[in-house]
Amino acid sequence: KHWVYAFKAGQADGDASMKALLGGKGANLAEMSSLNLPVPAGFTITTEACVHYYQNNSELPAGLVDEVETNLAHLEKTTAKGFGDVANPLLVSVRSGARASMPGMMDTVLNLGLNDATVEGLTALTGDSRFALDCYRRFITMYSNVVLGVNHHSFEDILDDHKDRLGVTIDTDITAKDWERIIADYKAMVKSELGRDFPQDPKDQLWGAIRAVFGSWMNDRAKFYRKMHDIPEDWGTAVNIQSMVFGNMGNTSATGVAFTRNPSTGDSDLYGEFLLNAQGEDVVAGIRTPQALTKKAREDMGERSLSMEESLPEVFAQFKTTVDTLENHYRDVQDVEFTVEQGKLYMLQTRNAKRTSKAALKIAVDMAKEGLITPQEALMRIDPGTLDQLLHPMLDPKADKTVIAKGLPASPGAASGKIVFTAEDAVRYAAAGEDVILVRDETSPEDIKGMYAAKAIVTARGGMTSHAAVVARGMGRPCVSGAGEMQIYAERGEFASRGQTYRHGEIITLDGSTGEIMKGAIRMIEPDFSEDFHQIMAWADDYKRLDIRANAETPADARTALGFGAKGIGLCRTEHMFFDEDRITAVREMILADDEAGRRKALAKIEPMQRKDFTELFQIMDGLPVTIRLLDPPLHEFLPHTEEDIAHVAETSGIGADKLYKRTKELSETNPMLGWRGCRLGITFPEIYESQLNALFNAAVDVLEGGGDPHPEIMHPLVATQEEMAKLSALTHDVAKIVFAARGKTLAYKVGTMIELPRAALMANRLAETAEFFSFGTNDLTQTTFGISRDDSGRFLNPYIEKGIFEKDPFVSLDQDGVGALIEMAVAKGKATRPDIKLGLCGEHGGDPASIAFCHKVGLAYVSCSPYRVPVARLAAAQAAI
Ligand code: ADP
Ligand code: MG
Ligand code: MG
Repeated sequence: KHWVYAFKAGQADGDASMKALLGGKGANLAEMSSLNLPVPAGFTITTEACVHYYQNNSELPAGLVDEVETNLAHLEKTTAKGFGDVANPLLVSVRSGARASMPGMMDTVLNLGLNDATVEGLTALTGDSRFALDCYRRFITMYSNVVLGVNHHSFEDILDDHKDRLGVTIDTDITAKDWERIIADYKAMVKSELGRDFPQDPKDQLWGAIRAVFGSWMNDRAKFYRKMHDIPEDWGTAVNIQSMVFGNMGNTSATGVAFTRNPSTGDSDLYGEFLLNAQGEDVVAGIRTPQALTKKAREDMGERSLSMEESLPEVFAQFKTTVDTLENHYRDVQDVEFTVEQGKLYMLQTRNAKRTSKAALKIAVDMAKEGLITPQEALMRIDPGTLDQLLHPMLDPKADKTVIAKGLPASPGAASGKIVFTAEDAVRYAAAGEDVILVRDETSPEDIKGMYAAKAIVTARGGMTSHAAVVARGMGRPCVSGAGEMQIYAERGEFASRGQTYRHGEIITLDGSTGEIMKGAIRMIEPDFSEDFHQIMAWADDYKRLDIRANAETPADARTALGFGAKGIGLCRTEHMFFDEDRITAVREMILADDEAGRRKALAKIEPMQRKDFTELFQIMDGLPVTIRLLDPPLHEFLPHTEEDIAHVAETSGIGADKLYKRTKELSETNPMLGWRGCRLGITFPEIYESQLNALFNAAVDVLEGGGDPHPEIMHPLVATQEEMAKLSALTHDVAKIVFAARGKTLAYKVGTMIELPRAALMANRLAETAEFFSFGTNDLTQTTFGISRDDSGRFLNPYIEKGIFEKDPFVSLDQDGVGALIEMAVAKGKATRPDIKLGLCGEHGGDPASIAFCHKVGLAYVSCSPYRVPVARLAAAQAAI
């Protein structure tokens, strides 16, 4: 077993498929080396070594030290330099890199191998003492911070004092002499903080850094990031030790990051940023606002400082060819890090780029049209859950707005909220239910919790690829970065822009698609869908087998659902129609009636209203099935409960308060969810269902007569026995017959039941004798199978998930083992009795991709979900079928 895998241009022990062992960074460095791209040589310590380290009390695995020594010796040979060699020093970076990319969450140390002696050697070798000292001061800062735990502010304070003293503002203006003084102050500060000298032995430095990278796997922000992205804690990180190349060797040197396509919009232009005479971290940390890579991007942004294409044209051309090679090789958009050392290009990292859902759609569609990938692959590349982002509101273009600052459109979407200046405040306010916008000079990885808690993020510094921008895009948070006209005084709780001051707690709105920041809350509207969205949905429809319907009662919801491509209504909860102002009084009258005659009298008032509702739904869903569930909730839900409400209802309805109070008491139940509800109401008070059936069949005939094509499916809730089902089927058919006879018209319809009790699943073969369809009501079925009340589960569900007893909330993602077994049984039994039985699922699970895959697998015909989840479900259904 090896703990170390080497790579150098033209040759590598590993390859891109070995991400689990080498981490994403290490595996791709190996792959790029094999492609003969210019990668500085190095080697990777495996994630297994890190796992071993954690399982054995921070001990390094036996053999690791020897393997590192051997590989280091090879690296010295490859580079013709010596580690710690005073005349010709080899410097390395020690870089973290886990299986899944966790940008900026873990640690990396650059320029390792420098000490008081080798720094002289580097000066002699390059003839550039300013450069050598710049490397040394960076190394001391980074190493002290990452490995020795010295706060980086202590270094910044020293540097700032010197800059003030010297009257310079940018680092590159500091001379060699001054760096010497700064470095002396750095070392003195480290010594006084730690009580010992900054380590001078390169081997000590190396092992310190390796251990620190292992250690960074367990830092707070890495833990939080893993939790947010479902990354297991036992993966560990690899460590990459790579010979240094220098972007800080003057103005033919540079460092940068690039995306082969725009990760925010998906546009196919090369997109990136670079800085002349700088080292890697400078670009991503947002220390200086970087320059554009291409001439076109520079012109689009109206910038003056030259792009890389203009200032380093030859290297740029080579770079462009290199990244094209990478995109074609990986067949996906690449996010690369590179450095130019005195006109020579080096590739330091590549990975599949994180992107917004808008960009994901465009890139997938473009690549399929370019023939780089197939439509099936395009569909598989989009995380259905992220489609949600596209369905979210955007700013109303007609709304009045006062722009108070403008920055870069770093992550699309609009949001309003109160200004906060620290991650802690963001977390605290969000926990109290407030919408906040996190406003920072620049974000650092420590801010991740605050970024997650905030509705959106604004930074005054940093570019499109700054930490803030990358992380915001990954989380789907709108972000405006590099809004340089804002002066932020976090400690005073205010920022200034365009001559005005804005305080902590004031409301602002930002638009991550334009980069604008506005005063107050701006009106939002529903978004337009791009061509790409429609193309993906069209491909999804080509491949999916499940139909997607929507849960909808109101005409507005039904229209939204249709617009999102729903193929009918899978669940119309008729009780929602009972709560409207104009009918609740009649509903209460019905509940309070002393006898059947009284109930019928009240029902006669409600019936025409329901008929009108159903007519409208059938019209909207012309030619498509509409599943109407008859009355389901316990009756007392419709009655007032507090003294105050009772008094109010008594007054407005003319029903006596005493009677109201008495009836409410009579109807109250200990376990209402297991009480007098569902078809139990229809069995005991058949006139209620009779009236609903009358309304719906008459509505269907009305629509038919108007030239429409209604497809009613009548669904009886909470059925447990075949006797219930038989009785309710008979009632349904009887009413249909009477209506059809009276109207002189007939039409096709179906009668069925929701399967939401374990007994119904167990007896499905008997229910199917009279039920023509089953719709799995998995909200109640989950509740009744687990014996867990949905409304009371909040208090123990989280502990259950934390303790690993539940992997996920079973009300969000279907319990495929348990509840799923009942579904599979009911499917088989239903089909045994009635081979053409129609099978579907309604409830929250109908919008959950994993549950949808299950429904596909067990052979359901459709799932029904809330209107806004319909696109998510269409895509998930296609993925299940591919
Ligand atoms: P992260 O995972 O946070 O991006 P990296 O390990 O990629 O950390 O290192 C950050 C930056 O440091 C890189 O983008 C690169 O610019 C710079 N860097 C890393 N290794 C080297 C190297 N061997 N030579 C020059 N620069 C390097
Ligand atoms: Mg990196
Ligand atoms: Mg139910």
